[in-house]
Amino acid sequence: MLAVAVIAFILVVRPKDLLPPEPEDPFAHLDERKTAIYENLRDLQFEFRVGKLSDTDYQKTKQDLQGELAKVLAEVDRVRAGLAAPPLSKPKAPPVEPAKAKSTGLICSSCGAKFEKELKFCGECGKPMKAAKA
Ligand SMILES: [Zn+2]
Repeated sequence: MLAVAVIAFILVVRPKDLLPPEPEDPFAHLDERKTAIYENLRDLQFEFRVGKLSDTDYQKTKQDLQGELAKVLAEVDRVRAGLAAPPLSKPKAPPVEPAKAKSTGLICSSCGAKFEKELKFCGECGKPMKAAKA
């Protein structure tokens, strides 16, 4: 139990002590955590081998660390996926709608001629352009 507490303490504190604050790269922080967990696993194996830990403590702590490692690896995957393709909740700002609404006033519905500004009558075919509000 004590070993678990000590290792949990090391996991939380160590990355902060070692790393200067650089929140820019999300992988740097995760890599650091991963490295810390690997180090702790190695330490744990060593302590178990020299007889400092009971088999039960060793297995329990190892499982905790591996669970922690799995979480970090999942986070790495999540961050990587987020960088490769933005999450689906985000794409609310594609400029499709405004562009479409704008172009209806500039294109003649009869002949398809384009104009810089809205006209009452098409300069190409002479037909009324209904997009312009009177
Ligand atoms: Zn026209």
